[in-house]
Amino acid sequence: MNCTEFLANLTDYFDTKTAAALRSELERHMAGCSHCHVTLNTTRQTIEIYRNDELYELPESIRTQLQQAVLAKCAAMKKKKEPCA
Ligand SMILES: [Zn+2]
Repeated sequence: MNCTEFLANLTDYFDTKTAAALRSELERHMAGCSHCHVTLNTTRQTIEIYRNDELYELPESIRTQLQQAVLAKCAAMKKKKEPCA
């Protein structure tokens, strides 16, 4: 799994119906990728904020913002020739 795949499946991580296999794939990627780890934590906090308002869907705009933030960080890392997942 790479960062793009991680982000595509990120919200599924919080879905209790998500298969254990996918969840462990996400966890394995996160263990080696601090950007995605941070993104997951941010997303979790966002979801908790929205849950308090009884809004369970992560708004598309927030999801897009998170994806762009992580991909920008990865692009910056690649410029420095440091691997990002
Ligand atoms: Zn990643």
